[in-house]
Amino acid sequence: MYGILTSEKALVDAFADAVVHYSTDDVSANKRPPLENVINTVACWGDTAAVRADPSLAAQTADTTRAEPETEGHHWGTVCPTNETYRTTLLERISTVGGVGALRLTTPGFPGTQFCRCESCERKFNASDIDDWQAWRARTITQFIRDVRSHCTDELYVTAYPDPYPGNLRGRTGLDPKELAALVDGFVVPLCSISYETTYWVESLARGFARELDALDIPLTVQLSASNVRVDRLVDVTRQISPYADSVIYGTTTDTAEVVREVIRQCADDDFQSAIVQ
Ligand SMILES: [Zn+2]
Repeated sequence: MYGILTSEKALVDAFADAVVHYSTDDVSANKRPPLENVINTVACWGDTAAVRADPSLAAQTADTTRAEPETEGHHWGTVCPTNETYRTTLLERISTVGGVGALRLTTPGFPGTQFCRCESCERKFNASDIDDWQAWRARTITQFIRDVRSHCTDELYVTAYPDPYPGNLRGRTGLDPKELAALVDGFVVPLCSISYETTYWVESLARGFARELDALDIPLTVQLSASNVRVDRLVDVTRQISPYADSVIYGTTTDTAEVVREVIRQCADDDFQSAIVQ
């Protein structure tokens, strides 16, 4: 299956014959009304506006480095995942969006291996019945996704940081595919690059995720970028990952819609031809 990720409603209509991920809430605090017959995306703790308004909300390391856009390796602000007030508001929003149709969580989990060591997290970890910090983080995120699951009746997809090395996703974010297998309908892995001058890493990462998720029977969607890339290059990338991905979606704007349309046409034609051969 092929589709798009977009924040433009006109493209939702234009690609009605494809899978459409619609950016309902993003990390810049843009909020759009959720749509029917798409997969609406909601940023979880990625929320630059909230962190700007109150820096004490940000997830932080033991040396008080905050998860802010200016911090090396961070492109947006991230709120501490154990902040109760924020969590309650987030679940209310998820309940609203999930009531319309399928849902995809973006920026779920802790924003890196060293996060979060804020007072709230330290207190909750110390009060918990487990003494392994990694296990506590994973349980925190699993419980959140379980709560999300109970707030939505349609399909639930979760975005995964593109690091399939065994144990790394759990260590970075607290997302543990084994724990989440029974709760989600698929993982979405962004493998984005401008122009895709090199592509070996795309195939390698897709293959790594497929190996783990296939064993857990969790469908894999790979998200590619259509920014500044030629049709033939994007078709080539798609063909390389097709053996591993159940779906491929392209981040699409009005400027790139025609490129994406042609890529999908050529790749769908590939699938049709191979189906005939089989
Ligand atoms: Zn915290």
